[in-house]
Amino acid sequence: MTNPAKILISPKGLRWFSSGHPWIYAGDLLSKPEQAGVVTVCDSRGKFLAQAFYSPHSKIALRILSRKEEPIDRNWFFEKLKRAITLRKKLSIRSDAQRLVFAESDGIPSLIVDRYGETLVVQTLSAGLEACKVWVFDSLKEILSPTGVFEKNDVAIRNLERLPRSNEVVFGAVPETIWIEEAGLQFAVDVRKGQKTGAFLDQRGNRILAGEMAEGNVLDAFSYEGWFACHFARKAESVVCLESSEEAAVRIRENAKKNGMENKISIITSNAFDVLKEKEQGNETFGWINLDPPAFVKTAKEKEGAWRGYKEINLRAMKMLKKTGGGLSTSSCSYHMGVDDFSQMLAEAAFDAKAEINVFAEKGAAPDHPMLPGFPESRYLKCLFCYVNGDRYS
Ligand code: SAH
Repeated sequence: MTNPAKILISPKGLRWFSSGHPWIYAGDLLSKPEQAGVVTVCDSRGKFLAQAFYSPHSKIALRILSRKEEPIDRNWFFEKLKRAITLRKKLSIRSDAQRLVFAESDGIPSLIVDRYGETLVVQTLSAGLEACKVWVFDSLKEILSPTGVFEKNDVAIRNLERLPRSNEVVFGAVPETIWIEEAGLQFAVDVRKGQKTGAFLDQRGNRILAGEMAEGNVLDAFSYEGWFACHFARKAESVVCLESSEEAAVRIRENAKKNGMENKISIITSNAFDVLKEKEQGNETFGWINLDPPAFVKTAKEKEGAWRGYKEINLRAMKMLKKTGGGLSTSSCSYHMGVDDFSQMLAEAAFDAKAEINVFAEKGAAPDHPMLPGFPESRYLKCLFCYVNGDRYS
């Protein structure tokens, strides 16, 4: 990339930049070149501030790469990638399915690299990064010698960048099913058809902890491919999975079988809201309930409806646990529902359920999804572990 374009930002944009947030919004740009790529960012008088990825069509116009005047070239990407990958080696991750690069949090905005065994899955989620992606692929091959690299760019977020959506093998061979290991259990991953890059790696630590805590009969709502369920089945007497997707249910069966747990795990392929209602009204009880719904709030405007959704499922779970004095692991991956909102929602649900709850662990995403201070978007996942006390109120 020769002679990066220069973009001046407004004084308001400068104040925002100085807060440490790694994005600058389109409204704060004083000029808008047509071409995406790496640009130099200056204040309104032309003084150098940083280098950034530039997206001409997105509301997130600039994503900060470096506050130094250094070449952003293949070597820059190579060093950043190496650093992120070396960090993972220090984290004692109990799986060969790992997030190797978590975008802004690892200093390469909008880049996701996940490893499933010897296969890499890559997402390039901004127009600026797209212009540099060949350096990313080259460096990953050199550092990791993967057997296959899959580009999973068939995601809606690329529409906001006016980038084409595609899924393709960019290097080597990528098997249809990759078996990975997580804390001694085996799970099948289909990187082509699976959600996210194939699996929900951010919940790893919470699955392991929940599996160690749960007892008795367990209800696992929003199960996806049954990863929580298999962790539960190690100690629990039985696990009932609620999952609306038929394809995911097929995988739950496959994973249960592979781990020798098919006798303990059953599946209800239906809407979890309806089944939770039926079970609660039918006075069923459980020793442990896990709730891991998809993001109910994708924008700040949807918060009220989402709050009701979270409250409904948590309230029903608490009622079914009240009589057994059981435990609840309850998650939200909506960034717009912060941990304080989530706790308040639980308090209101507990009030209505006439239950007392004690939160004994407040967890987030697994450490291979590091957080970046000043970038609250990186702190999106909450998983609260609670004991639900019996009939403390009439
Ligand atoms: N707990 C999983 C991830 C869950 S993702 C893990 O650790 O791997 C959320 C899941 O909820 C998805 O599989 C999605 O298909 C499912 N889902 C979404 N809406 C649902 C609904 N109303 N009822 C049941 N399942 C639903």
